[in-house]
Amino acid sequence: MRIAVDDIKAAPTELQFVEEVSELNRTLAGRSEAEYHLPVSLRVSLAHFRSGEDLILSGTIQGEFVGTCSRCVEEYTSPIQRAFSVTLSPQFQTTHREVELSVDELSAGFYSEAHIDLSALVGEETLLALPSQPLCRENCRGLCGQCGTNLNVESCACRPLWRDPRLAVLSTLRLPSQR
Ligand SMILES: [Zn+2]
Ligand SMILES: [Zn+2]
Repeated sequence: MRIAVDDIKAAPTELQFVEEVSELNRTLAGRSEAEYHLPVSLRVSLAHFRSGEDLILSGTIQGEFVGTCSRCVEEYTSPIQRAFSVTLSPQFQTTHREVELSVDELSAGFYSEAHIDLSALVGEETLLALPSQPLCRENCRGLCGQCGTNLNVESCACRPLWRDPRLAVLSTLRLPSQR
């Protein structure tokens, strides 16, 4: 989705569109840190207007994401609801380098072409909406480190490997009768 800079007027204009997610999913699949994908298209609602040469774009992105829980490794689905507001200022080129309106440029708050790439903006905002650590629930109990049982679903008979250090201290004490 692109919009011509000349079409952004002083009076706010509202815009609704659906953003496809295949490219974003390719980006997500290439990341190593956290596992996410987007199962459905994003619904975007935004208003744009200008203040002199500055362009103001604000709106909301709605959709959902599927994450792989970092504790229990189960997939879970969660809604995306991202509000954003960006101001883009014109970037005057002093060199002859070929410039594309990149995500980097958008995040720095500049535009340099006759069009604004709304898809790049929506993509960037959507990535920011994803949590840094995927968790199926806040108090996910994860998997047993010994038998692999999903402790959210059932308990297991494994004894915890961790011993209370206070008990370890007690076990070194000897009673007079044991001498
Ligand atoms: Zn979990
Ligand atoms: Zn176990």
